[in-house]
Amino acid sequence: MPLRLLIAGLVVLLLTISFAPDLQAVPASPREFVVGYSAQGRPISAVQFGDGPRKLVVVGNTHGAPEANTYRLTLALIEHLRANPQLVPPSVRLFLVPTVNPDGIALGWRFDAAGVDLNRNMNTNLDACPENDWRTTVQGAYGIISDTGGAYPDSQVEAQLVRAFLLDAAGAIFLHSNAGLVFPAACEHGPSIRLAEVYAQAASYEYRRFWSLYHITGGMHDWAGSLGIAAITPELVTGDQMEFAENLAALTAVLAQADELLPLPEDGEVAGFNVPAPIFRYWRALGGEERFGLPLEEARTTSSGISQTFAHARISLTHAQRDTLFYVQPDPLGVAAAAALAYGGAEAQLPHPTQPEAGLYFPESGFSLNGGFRDLWQRGGGLAVFGLPLSHEFQASSSATPRTLQYFERALFSYSPAEGVRLEALGARQLALEGLMQPEAVQMVR
Ligand SMILES: [Zn+2]
Repeated sequence: MPLRLLIAGLVVLLLTISFAPDLQAVPASPREFVVGYSAQGRPISAVQFGDGPRKLVVVGNTHGAPEANTYRLTLALIEHLRANPQLVPPSVRLFLVPTVNPDGIALGWRFDAAGVDLNRNMNTNLDACPENDWRTTVQGAYGIISDTGGAYPDSQVEAQLVRAFLLDAAGAIFLHSNAGLVFPAACEHGPSIRLAEVYAQAASYEYRRFWSLYHITGGMHDWAGSLGIAAITPELVTGDQMEFAENLAALTAVLAQADELLPLPEDGEVAGFNVPAPIFRYWRALGGEERFGLPLEEARTTSSGISQTFAHARISLTHAQRDTLFYVQPDPLGVAAAAALAYGGAEAQLPHPTQPEAGLYFPESGFSLNGGFRDLWQRGGGLAVFGLPLSHEFQASSSATPRTLQYFERALFSYSPAEGVRLEALGARQLALEGLMQPEAVQMVR
């Protein structure tokens, strides 16, 4: 190392040490960080103000280059809040995301890198309103019909980022332009309606109960509203101005009434068990009973957070991962099951393939995904939900019903002609191992 660099390094080190008390005194807010990355690898960043329990997320620029004024608006709001952090009350944790579609800005269009409209890609099938359910064929700007909804709900990494980052949100403001109105989640949701009314009045924008030109399918506001998040879409009047004063007035009004407008996430009640709010939202948003089965026990407090066992998975919240994409995740129950060869499969594990195999190949573990298992893995949330494949497909060693299985880090995939592709009951197995459940009760879990 050149001497000059070495000396510079020592100086930095000494400065760091001597100023350590001051560095620690720097308030945690605002905090700037990368939430995740777009399909083409561009960072999607957020700035956080405050650390209260009510999480409010302002999402700028879902629609790329044509709505770049919402990107500039969000940046301007961040700068204003840096100078006026007292606008954020103690009960609020505010995040501003200038763009969730940096690829769309770079490519000069409304869509993501794959040509999908991110505001038509969300899983909006969870609410009681079928007309807004996700579809491939959608109506976009000016009502133009196109196949830009994506291959399946939440198929795009940016949509998955929104789904994970907003999981514990109380409120969400999705900025668009340039229809000049504010509307709430379409399916009846009081908190979304009240938030839209307050935002519209303070901004002097027109409030509309519905986007009346056509049905929006797979929209972020509808997805968020279906989970209980107060969710609105303000459409700026112009396509090129920030309309800073209008939106600052609206955001200020929302923050001033945060305790009334932003409802804390609510626990769920499933099969007689209480399910803590973030786990309940995760369970619903990622497939519910069909995917994870029903809860088998009350949630437990652990050293790192909260865990609850469902028939097919144990879903855990990790306090240290709050406001990351990994706040709630299934435990890696598949790792132990695979190591114990609990369902057979010795012949499927060895020898490891020396060449990449056909299908979706993972060099990290040396195994591939094919057919129906590949489809479930991709549609069900991929790596974050199921983890890597840990074996080839194999036939279950002992079972009344012959079936094909494959181990993953966080799941065990199963196929039989009678039941199709689904997850095996690793949650029930784990409870049985821990001796908290009678063997006959395990038998009842399907
Ligand atoms: Zn838009």
